[in-house]
Amino acid sequence: MKLKSGWKFVLTVALPLALAGAGTVALTGDLISHVSSGANDADHVRTHEIIQSALKGRLAQLASTVADNANWDDAALRLYADPPDEVWAEGSWASATGYGINYDAMFATATDGTILTGFVRGERRLPDAKVFFGGKLGLVLDRLPRDMATFESTAAIIETPEGVALVGAAPILPTTPDLLALPDSPRFLLLVKFLTPEFIAAIGDSYVVKDLSFLPPDRAEPGALAVEDAAGQKIGALSWTDRLPGDKALGAVMPAATIMLGFLMAVMAGIGILSWRQIEDIAEKERKSRFDASHDSLTGLTNRFALMGEIAAMLESGEDLAVAFVDLDGFKEVNDTYNHETGDRLICAVAAGLAALAENRAKLSRLGGDEFVLLLRGAGCAVAAQTLAADIISLLATPFDLDGRRAKVGASIGIATSQDAAKSPSELMRRADIAMYKAKETGKNRTCLFEARLDAERREDAEIAVELDSIVAAGSIGIAYQPIIAAHDRSIVAVEALARWPKSSPRNLAPDRFIRIAERHGLIDRLGRSILDKALADARNWPEIRVSVNVSPVQLRNPDFVPMTLKALQTAGLPTARLELEITENTLIDDANNAKAQIDDLRKAGISVALDDFGSGYSSIGYLKQFHFDRIKIDRSLVQDVDADTAVQQFVQGVALLANALSAGVTAEGVERQEQVNLLRLAGCSELQGYLFSRPVAAETITAMLAQAQMTVRRNAAAADAGNR
Ligand code: C2E
Ligand code: CA
Ligand code: CA
Repeated sequence: MKLKSGWKFVLTVALPLALAGAGTVALTGDLISHVSSGANDADHVRTHEIIQSALKGRLAQLASTVADNANWDDAALRLYADPPDEVWAEGSWASATGYGINYDAMFATATDGTILTGFVRGERRLPDAKVFFGGKLGLVLDRLPRDMATFESTAAIIETPEGVALVGAAPILPTTPDLLALPDSPRFLLLVKFLTPEFIAAIGDSYVVKDLSFLPPDRAEPGALAVEDAAGQKIGALSWTDRLPGDKALGAVMPAATIMLGFLMAVMAGIGILSWRQIEDIAEKERKSRFDASHDSLTGLTNRFALMGEIAAMLESGEDLAVAFVDLDGFKEVNDTYNHETGDRLICAVAAGLAALAENRAKLSRLGGDEFVLLLRGAGCAVAAQTLAADIISLLATPFDLDGRRAKVGASIGIATSQDAAKSPSELMRRADIAMYKAKETGKNRTCLFEARLDAERREDAEIAVELDSIVAAGSIGIAYQPIIAAHDRSIVAVEALARWPKSSPRNLAPDRFIRIAERHGLIDRLGRSILDKALADARNWPEIRVSVNVSPVQLRNPDFVPMTLKALQTAGLPTARLELEITENTLIDDANNAKAQIDDLRKAGISVALDDFGSGYSSIGYLKQFHFDRIKIDRSLVQDVDADTAVQQFVQGVALLANALSAGVTAEGVERQEQVNLLRLAGCSELQGYLFSRPVAAETITAMLAQAQMTVRRNAAAADAGNR
């Protein structure tokens, strides 16, 4: 299956390109977003770690601060006193709790955690430890030893009713051993730092973490850092606004990436467009070569190749089919007379005319040269083809005007139909061709239907041609002579040589038939020469009369014709004046220029030329003026009616008058009745020929007739002599 170029383009170029483009965009986008979100994630994790270690750092710092304050001789002296020295304590810590830089509260407690003295945000306060620390103080104090020998400090996060806080704790011990008598178990120093927004923000500032804030656990966002108390319980979360370095990087590379992708798209689009053009180009070339292969370049009509395909398709469909084969009559002459451009223009004009007639009726093709074919389909197509053929012939009756040059052609049309088992395109065409030949043979400018008989005739013609070839080669063609008499005294003035099929052959063929076969099979030159030679040989026995020999139009086309004829006369030793050649009108129509040249040459050489069969076909008085004839032979078809039709009589009279004016003789052919004789004489015919006087006879009979006539003349002369005496 052949794809239309559009689909071909989509499948082979557009789709792959679009997929590649979309893939590249998706992949690049994915890659960039992957890299950027990776960078974001890494930064988040890092920030997470920073905050975590910052918190640890604060706890460590608090533990170390509390250690510094608890492991102190003065503190031991003042705080183990009973009651503890609150004034001293106030001087030492109260203001520090008021600044809130390192801690917000300071307490000194008994071993069990009971608060002995304390300051919260610069104020002296002695709260119940259980209430202030919400019962969580144990989480801190339990991490410290209860003996007086070891010093250790700790810090932990706990949730208090006043807020989440870092609580640092250490036993109060002097640095100087044996400074004072100490109890068995220690008092503790507590430093409390609340996770206030300011404190959290300060951590954020020092570690460059934006919007760092502490939120209760229920408001914590995913990704926030969970804050657990010393017992591992979630008590809140630290959240912040990520810096999103990936997004920044993305923002930085985006314009470049967009430009790059844009460029890539442009390149792909370029490739797409180029490929589309190329595919279109190839498709166009394919379309053109397909058109060229199936169309005639001169007329644009479908050609033989396409026609055969169409016929095959129609035959397959089982529909009735008629083929009308049109061959122009006289096209070659137009082509030779003018030039090939004019010929081409004529073909185009004819094609246009035929196309107009064929519209909605038939499909027109040109086979080449001057041959056209019309294809008709459907029931009744045979009759329709004949009607169309008649229309074509009447269309061509009007000459074409080709830039001021008038050109006249006719058409011989052969029709064949698919009905009689013509089931292949070539068989159908062969039949139409045979019918067309028949139309040409039977006078041109007509239509002929194919019949099985034509096939048989063709085959027989081929056999006859073979036989005729050997007859000519053997010189055994027969010849008969028909006397032509003077109208005024019935004396034989000439004989017409007529070819005869030899008696020795089992066939009996009329000259019309075998002459035509000879013409078609290239035997006419030799046959014509053979008859000329025989006629001239016989004419030597009849010195007082002319010998008339028929010349085929085909012979006249041979440029050697005139020299050959002169040579034959020379061989026979006869003067040129003894020979007359009869040429039919068709010759003139077919090839006027050549015919005129040949006729002029013959007449110059002294051979007389007669126009044969005048009045049988396209008779044109114009020819009589255009060509110079020594004689006009009025056709038997006119002569037959001369005693029945006064119009014919007048026509014959007119021709005789014209001939007289052109100083040409007039012979009436086919005279069969006495009544015709008188009328023809009156009309001005100087010579008569016909069965009334004699049928064509053997040469010996002519010799005998001439001798008889001689004798009669002598006898009459003698009788006249005797009468005179
Ligand atoms: P055509 O040249 O017109 O010859 C005259 C034909 O009329 C002859 O027929 C002749 O027998 C016939 N004819 C003569 N008088 C009468 C008559 O009173 N009544 C009738 N019904 N017919 C008459 P044929 O011999 O059968 O020849 C037929 C044609 O064959 C000739 O017509 C001529 O065109 C052609 N032909 C004959 N011999 C030759 C030849 O040697 N060369 C060429 N090229 N053509 C020839
Ligand atoms: Ca003749
Ligand atoms: Ca004739």
